[in-house]
Amino acid sequence: MLDRNKPLWGKPPRLKRSYDAVIIGGGLHGLATAYFLARHQGMQNIAVLEKRYIGFGGAGRNTAIVRANQRTQENVPLYKEALDLWPVLTKELDYNLMFFNCGNLNLLHSEAAVNAARMNVASAQFQGVESHLIDAKTCKEMMPALNISEEITFPIMGAMYHPPGGIVRHDAVVWGLAKGAAKYGCHIHQQTEVTGINVAKGKIVSVDTQKGRINTPRVLLTAGGYTAALAYQMLGIKLPISVLNIQAMVTQPLKPLLNHVISSGAYHVYANQTLKGEIATGAHMDAWPNYTTQTTAYYIRHQAQAITQMLPCLKGVKFMRHWSGLADMTPDMAPIMDGNNAIEGFFLNCGWGYFGFKSCTANGKYLAQFMATGECPDILKPFHLGRYAKHRLMGETAALVTYTADN
Ligand SMILES: Cc1cc2nc3c(=O)[nH]c(=O)nc-3n(C[C@H](O)[C@H](O)[C@H](O)COP(=O)(O)OP(=O)(O)OC[C@H]3O[C@@H](n4cnc5c(N)ncnc54)[C@H](O)[C@@H]3O)c2cc1C
Repeated sequence: MLDRNKPLWGKPPRLKRSYDAVIIGGGLHGLATAYFLARHQGMQNIAVLEKRYIGFGGAGRNTAIVRANQRTQENVPLYKEALDLWPVLTKELDYNLMFFNCGNLNLLHSEAAVNAARMNVASAQFQGVESHLIDAKTCKEMMPALNISEEITFPIMGAMYHPPGGIVRHDAVVWGLAKGAAKYGCHIHQQTEVTGINVAKGKIVSVDTQKGRINTPRVLLTAGGYTAALAYQMLGIKLPISVLNIQAMVTQPLKPLLNHVISSGAYHVYANQTLKGEIATGAHMDAWPNYTTQTTAYYIRHQAQAITQMLPCLKGVKFMRHWSGLADMTPDMAPIMDGNNAIEGFFLNCGWGYFGFKSCTANGKYLAQFMATGECPDILKPFHLGRYAKHRLMGETAALVTYTADN
């Protein structure tokens, strides 16, 4: 008989008074790191502490787009490995993550955008990631619903086409990773908010939760949009992060019409058709930093106007749900992964903005290695916090819409 009260990752475990590692945040990165620590690094006495429920943050709110055509030599390898990991993890976790590599079309509407895309394509190809420039006619052949006429506000001149990208079911990833981590001994504690991180003689010694103190020599702070506030409140660490609200919505289910992920920087729109048939579409971020996760009618109108210019067949289709989440933006649009230096045993992972779903698996793998050995893997070294103090920003502006942290 089905046990309705038992989640996939087992019955809630008893909160122990001591763990070898504590991960703060049951989002994508926390769960992926926990899985790789338990399954691949042999560290099984670990806990993920989540203040609400796993997937409460960006993990359960994102629009599920994955791709590897980032811009810089530091970022592309991480995203490429993450993309390659979806089918591998589907088997390893024995859980269908619903990876659909339908390909991504990043639409281009000006000569300047085409030139910028040329650089992205060259960078991706140089690192073995499939990416091409295609003209508007080819876009239309690939996606007959697309309007390539000159009559719209930003006529489509072509696209950056990235065949291996696509979509993955975001909550399946949360549940699959939780199931995998728990199977190898990790404790997942929901409704367990961390309220303090304690340091003695330069080393992590414990964390405080509303359920009591937990002794541990290692902490990974990976609390998505809340990380910067927690790092400052608990350890006095200032992070160069602005937190902005980003909204998304889905339409009623439709017959298949959007056979690739599309995105447009000019229209500030991206969209994909979920396996249920809904068109999931994401909008621009709010223009000012805030933690509200409120939705606004402005974006419903914006999305409707923008998306129906490019896909006129969607006129009259209804939006069914609308939500928002937090994007923790760094000045160079690249994440911060650091640790085990100023405070021994303290690891940090944040600044994933609106692009942290796609990379979480590879990232979890390398963070787990970092936490287990204390040595930062080469692939993570460029993402250290110190780059901002030295003005060595990455310029990772290959994400689909170019935002600045305070636009
Ligand atoms: C609308 C939207 C669309 C997006 N679309 C995409 C996309 O298409 N592709 C893509 O790659 N990325 C996308 N993203 C970004 C992606 O979702 C995030 O980058 C990703 O979820 C970050 O993962 P995380 O594990 O760092 O944080 P989260 O998933 O936010 O998890 C952090 C967790 O920490 C918990 N927490 C906070 N404080 C505490 C505390 N004190 N104690 C314990 N737990 C705590 C929170 O409750 C939360 O569950 C989107 C984001 C949004 C909001």
